[in-house]
Parts: sequence; structure tokens; C-alpha cells
Amino acid sequence: VSVSARHAATESGGFLGAALAGTDITDLMQALAVKDQFVALVSHELRTPLTSIVGYVSILLEDEEDLPERVMRQLTVIARNTERLQRLVADLLQEAQHPDGAMPVDRARIDLGGIVRDCVHTARPAAERTGVELVLRCPSVLWVDADAHRFAQVVDNLVSNAVKYSLAGGQVAVELRARATEVQLIVSDAGIGICESDQSQLFTRFFRAQEAHDRAIQGIGLGLSITKSIVESHGGRIEVDSEPGRGSRFRVVLPLHIARLAS
Ligand code: ADP
Repeated sequence: VSVSARHAATESGGFLGAALAGTDITDLMQALAVKDQFVALVSHELRTPLTSIVGYVSILLEDEEDLPERVMRQLTVIARNTERLQRLVADLLQEAQHPDGAMPVDRARIDLGGIVRDCVHTARPAAERTGVELVLRCPSVLWVDADAHRFAQVVDNLVSNAVKYSLAGGQVAVELRARATEVQLIVSDAGIGICESDQSQLFTRFFRAQEAHDRAIQGIGLGLSITKSIVESHGGRIEVDSEPGRGSRFRVVLPLHIARLAS
């Protein structure tokens, strides 16, 4: 039952009365559960063929010397759009499986440095296509006690956003730091930025900032809410610092115990 309450005051501000209304929302909850099951099923079914397409396109792209330039260009477009579709499907699946943001984490001793390097490597072709320089500052190895798959998702979301919301000729810097009391992952760009009033809502599901709408940059507003859930489920936090037209800086801070446990 959903309950709402209102109170009424006299002209002078005194208490006049209160009304309490209860609505049966069983049907609504059932409809939402069916929607989540449907989205989860469809996204799950889409994953296998997409993985196959991505695999074969990347094999074709390896034949750079044998293929005409025009075909290479077209294959690159297919690769870019399939990667985007893959990310979208992964986000939808995650959202349908864990609509409340809570998600199981499978912790192990993992090298966060290696994960960050791999994600940056994966983002390089997209950065090159956008004319963005991708800079990486990262220790050779940084052991942490965390979920490897989820953290790859965090780095991938932040780096792909930084590239997507950058302007040609800009720079994206990805930095992993081990501090005395915490581990920090900082992803900064010199892109379109986010106005102050939108910054507090960025981590809300399906929210998109005004600048992204104005410039018609594609997205659905799920990546950051998933990123926040993953970071928080590891006891960490995520912060944003941004200025429209100057760029954005996302900082993930993980508590020290995450590094201690793993050493
Ligand atoms: P999506 O990019 O699919 O819309 P996200 O949840 O990843 O979804 O991001 C939410 C919103 O936050 C984006 O729509 C965009 O408005 C804003 N945003 C995220 N990262 C950046 C960034 N690096 N620069 C500017 N805006 C950003």
C-alpha cells in the first residue's frame, strides 16, 4: 500500500486537520516485476548474438592490409555501434536484475592496475575516432579485494563517458593512485561539462544532464547509477566535479581495507 499524507492549516497558520490516503498498488508492483523480467530476458537473449558479431568484426578488422580502406571504414562503424549496443544491453540487464541498485559482488584478490590498463586499451579506438587523446597514469600492479567484472564495468563506464562527452582535440586522463588511507581512480576530461544543478542527480537512474540533451549525445542514463551501486557495494564513494564548457572529473575513492585485505 502506498500512503500519502496532507495537513491543512488555518489562515493564521494554526492546525486545521490532516488527511491520510492509502492506495493499493499491488497491480502496479506486479506490472513492474513483469517488466523487469521481460527486460532481463530480452537483454540476456541479445547478449549471445552480439558477442558473436563483436568477435567476428574484430577478426575482420585485423586484416587491415588485405581489406580496401572503404570496407575498413565501414567495419569500424559496425564495430563502434555494436560495442555501444553491447554496453546498452549490459546496462539494461543489470538494471532489470537489480532495480533497487543492490547487487551481489564476487570478491577476490585482483590487480586493479591491470583492469584499468585493459579498459583504457579497449577505449583507445573510440578515443581515436573522436580525436581525443587518452592518457593513463597507473601503477604497474595494484592488488585489491574486489569484484573484477564489476570494477571493469566501473572503469569502462567512466572512461567511455569521458570520451563520449569530450570534444575533438581534448584529452581524457585516467589515473589510479594508491594513497596511505585509500585507493583513488580519477577520470577527467576537458569536454562539455555538467551544470551544477544537474550534478547531484547524475547518479539517479535514467537521469541525463542538460548539456547531453542539448548536444543530442546518445545515452540512456543508466551507467552512472550502476557505477555508483558497484562502488558503494565495495564500501567506496564516487564524486563529481564539473563545469559546463570546461570538463568533468569523476573520482572513485575506495577504503584502505580493500587494499589491505588483498596484500
Ligand atoms: P548515459 O551516458 O548513457 O546518458 P550515464 O548514467 O553514464 O548515462 O550518465 C548520466 C549523465 O551524466 C549523462 O547523460 C550525461 O548527461 C552526464 N555525464 C556523465 N559523464 C559525463 C562526462 N564525462 N561529461 C559530461 N557529462 C557526463
